[in-house]
Amino acid sequence: MSLIVTKFGGTSVATPERILKAAQRLVDYQQQGNKVVAVVSAMGKSTDDLLALAHEVNPAPPARELDVLLTTGELVSMSILAMAVASLGKKAKSFTGHQAGIVTTTKHNKAQIAQIKAGRIEQALDDGNIVIVAGFQGSTKTGELTTLGRGGSDTSAVALAAALKADLCEIYSDVDGVYTADPRVVPRAKKLESISYEEMLELAAAGSGVLQMRAVEFARNYKVTLCCRSAFSSNPGTIVREEAVEQAIVSGIAYDNSEAKITIRGVPDTAGIAASVFSAIAKANINVDMIVQNISEHGYTDITFTAPAGDLDRLCPVLQKQVDTLGAREYLVDSSITKLSLVGAGLRTNPGIAAKMFKVLSESAINIEMISTSAIRISVVIDAKNSERAQQALHTAFDLDSDQVFKEETLSAEEQAAKANKGR
Ligand code: ADP
Ligand code: ASP
Ligand code: MG
Repeated sequence: MSLIVTKFGGTSVATPERILKAAQRLVDYQQQGNKVVAVVSAMGKSTDDLLALAHEVNPAPPARELDVLLTTGELVSMSILAMAVASLGKKAKSFTGHQAGIVTTTKHNKAQIAQIKAGRIEQALDDGNIVIVAGFQGSTKTGELTTLGRGGSDTSAVALAAALKADLCEIYSDVDGVYTADPRVVPRAKKLESISYEEMLELAAAGSGVLQMRAVEFARNYKVTLCCRSAFSSNPGTIVREEAVEQAIVSGIAYDNSEAKITIRGVPDTAGIAASVFSAIAKANINVDMIVQNISEHGYTDITFTAPAGDLDRLCPVLQKQVDTLGAREYLVDSSITKLSLVGAGLRTNPGIAAKMFKVLSESAINIEMISTSAIRISVVIDAKNSERAQQALHTAFDLDSDQVFKEETLSAEEQAAKANKGR
């Protein structure tokens, strides 16, 4: 008997019909002799709606209360899915993150899973239930409700799969696998049969929304075999595991529209300046990504970095204070940027990939504003208006184009528009 953990994303449980379809899949798995756990996201874009509701009454909602509110989205889908399974004549039991024993750190809105006390789920499985767990949430040791950051249901699923020693963790969404680029941006993107944890981790970190980064970290650390599949078809999907079958030099392209570029101009070039700026930002709990410091001229320099655009409200007062205390000239913010990344294990052993990337962009008359690299990733910051053109040009130049054009089969026009605007 195998144990399968499945995860259904928001679009996969957006309507009663889709919930019944998910329920049927769970029942089929159980009838094939498996123990079945399903982790669910909130229906459709209900998390966005809850966030908007909170901001209507308070532009800066208290983090604790926001978490209490956001957990309700997944409570709706978990109970409705359990009812749908029951309507098919099978036993199902739904659990909130707290009831499922998902213990997290205390950082509201961005908590991390610290431990899973899986006894209650195991008991429910032994009693013959299909177990349904609310994704994206847990509770602290003291019983405070927490959420795991946007897209966090992926992490709930993989962490549960690790804790339950599941044989397989399937992530169902509206695409039938991991592609060489977001197929909504690059219609000629190719579906990968498999991808290594390492490459998937870099793609997720670089903004590829198909899996949350923490989920891939859990999968790698606990050797959980992941399969990304479509909730709307029976296509085989992409396996994420230790080693990919095919080893391309470049495995994929990712983009991230959610960052802003900040430049502090005219900073006195003395020891301790970078420490002062970045300590203050870290203290405000804001993650900085790329950092560039220019050569100093006449004792002054510029520092440029990227940070989440969503954190600008909190970041700007910190920057103003730093400008004032350090005697810098000013700070500038540019929110219309995209970070584009090429990822591939082959980057390690193939010199010249970065040069080729820069050449392709220059031939498309696209200016590169910042560059950073890791062993298997090259990232550039460019003007957001060139994002789609740049991705398509790079995809073709690195021989990633498929013969077939990606075809949207199931999403409504409204859902497609919402996806296209994600991260903007
Ligand atoms: P869910 O709501 O089910 O968690 P997401 O919207 O988070 O689904 O993730 C699926 C979306 O990820 C797809 O609709 C697709 O537009 C986007 N995506 C971005 N990069 C990729 C990629 N490399 N491969 C497949 N999908 C990608
Ligand atoms: N519902 C949450 C979100 O929209 C979690 C998830 O979907 O994974 O971010
Ligand atoms: Mg997701």
